[in-house]
Amino acid sequence: MKKGIVAIVGRPNVGKSSLFNRIIKQKKSIVENTPGVTRDRIYGTTEWLTREFIVIDTGGITLEDQPFAKEIKIQAEIAIEEADVIVFVLNHKEQLTEEDKMIARILYKTKKPVILAVNKYDKKTNDYVQYEYMSLGLNEPIMMSATHGIGIGDLLDSVIKLLPSANDLNPDMNSRIAIIGRPNVGKSSLVNSLLNETRMIVSEIPGTTIDAVDSVVKVNNIEYTIVDTAGIRKKSKIFRNIEKYSYLRSLTTINGSDIIILMLDSSETITDLDTNIGGLAFEEKKPIIIVANKWDLVEDKEKKILEKEEEIRSYFKYLAYAKVLFVSTRDKTRISKIFSSIEDIKVGLTKKIKTSVFNEVLNKAQLINPAPNFNGGRLKIYYGSQVEAYLPTFVLFVNNPDYVHFSYKRFIENQIRLQFGFEGVPINIIFRERK
Ligand code: GDP
Ligand code: GDP
Repeated sequence: MKKGIVAIVGRPNVGKSSLFNRIIKQKKSIVENTPGVTRDRIYGTTEWLTREFIVIDTGGITLEDQPFAKEIKIQAEIAIEEADVIVFVLNHKEQLTEEDKMIARILYKTKKPVILAVNKYDKKTNDYVQYEYMSLGLNEPIMMSATHGIGIGDLLDSVIKLLPSANDLNPDMNSRIAIIGRPNVGKSSLVNSLLNETRMIVSEIPGTTIDAVDSVVKVNNIEYTIVDTAGIRKKSKIFRNIEKYSYLRSLTTINGSDIIILMLDSSETITDLDTNIGGLAFEEKKPIIIVANKWDLVEDKEKKILEKEEEIRSYFKYLAYAKVLFVSTRDKTRISKIFSSIEDIKVGLTKKIKTSVFNEVLNKAQLINPAPNFNGGRLKIYYGSQVEAYLPTFVLFVNNPDYVHFSYKRFIENQIRLQFGFEGVPINIIFRERK
């Protein structure tokens, strides 16, 4: 399920964001239209020769009050930290600069593959001096132009050749749990208490490799891998305060996990960073539990609980399928609830609905609420069934998929959830024309 990650680095104006925009598929998401969710994208998902991967434009990670050189340096370091493949962009129309050389020196130290992309090569000629680029000590350059569309295919061919294979990306069998959330909500407190109670255990499943930064914990005799424990425990202090980075870090952590715990601070109001991070989990289609921590700080708990849940749900409308839990990692209350919810999610992920029962639900749904006229016609669902997929996926055969209004799709989804559960699990509903 994990996608590879590609980061684009280079000094300003070489064409990073032009390249980024050319590579990513521009997709409008529901999340992006939600207030508080970031619109200036620094990452996107794309596909080349059926291989899906995430692209990051590190040029979008800017720092206030920092000298320019430091900013570039941090961008390059973030790329090294987060990406599987790094694309280092140079400008063919200019000589190599000191900044180019500085970036090259930083990248030179990483074991991760670096692709040298010489941009603004707008016309195919042979007048470039390859050895100048070779002097950077990296690989042979790919000559390209982001705006003229030259060399993009070659570049993407190299990228996917260097991405880890799908098998390497799914190394172990434990559920990989990501604990995400903005700074100070209590993520590391949760991890620390889990680690103290269960002590760190090394997985004994043969052939499994666990990232050095992950930890295995055992709760109720079930092992879970907590992804990016080091990140949660704030290994990289310098980067902690860069909001965009904290957001990107969440993306890469989410990408590498099976189930997400989105942690909030219930004693504070919800912020844009909270909703941005939640939006990532939604877009990456991950099962999720919303955990509102520091419940001990809330007074009048009995009275507040419904109000708080409503508030959270209004901020995270697109995560309507998520369970919301109120916990205190300080007092260790309701922590076990998190893990029983994870087990519920695992059940949801493997649940198979009988076709006959499923069709009864579809028929009943249409009886109580027939589809409205939309796009020139009225939707009629003839039948449907669950198909084999990682996430629960239902294919519905209809008279015309163009007649599907999103609110009707949501209604159908709600009916499915009402009948069959799937709490915390995203489900896919695909409408197909019956021939
Ligand atoms: P960034 O700062 O590295 O993200 O660079 P941008 O993508 O913003 O590009 C900087 C400028 O270079 C813009 O004016 C782009 O239109 C221009 N540019 C980008 N790619 C090419 C290219 O392949 N050829 C030419 N001639 N200009 C380009
Ligand atoms: P992180 O940045 O999300 O990893 O947050 P930390 O785990 O470092 O916690 C931030 C602060 O909140 C620390 O001072 C913790 O002691 C405190 N904290 C964490 N969980 C709780 C809780 O359940 N209740 C209270 N009152 N404080 C908490």
